[in-house]
Amino acid sequence: MHEVSLMQNLLEVVASTARREGGEKVNVIHLKIGELSGVNRDSLEFAFEVLKKGTVAEEGKLEIERVPLRVRCKDCGADFSPTDLIFRCESCGSSNLEIVSGREMEIDYILMDDEEDGDGG
Ligand SMILES: [Zn+2]
Repeated sequence: MHEVSLMQNLLEVVASTARREGGEKVNVIHLKIGELSGVNRDSLEFAFEVLKKGTVAEEGKLEIERVPLRVRCKDCGADFSPTDLIFRCESCGSSNLEIVSGREMEIDYILMDDEEDGDGG
């Protein structure tokens, strides 16, 4: 189940970002996950619920944005989302395609609280 190690890495990035930017508490972690990344969303959310305990993101929320697969034809330049797994250009029929998006697995942004007013306990 590689979502667990993925989430461990993500939370490390989140923690060091929070430390660097002086964030006290992470409220939202917004991820972009491509359709082709092979990451299971449910597993990732489950891993987050388990692993966030004791981290800056303990009370935070995980938001997952699915990035659809997009390819571009290297022959005619057409840009489209294939509807099935047979990759063929919609306008010229070429199979000389490159993937533009859909494989990403990254943190898009993190929302966090700065140091709060009052005395922290
Ligand atoms: Zn084409």
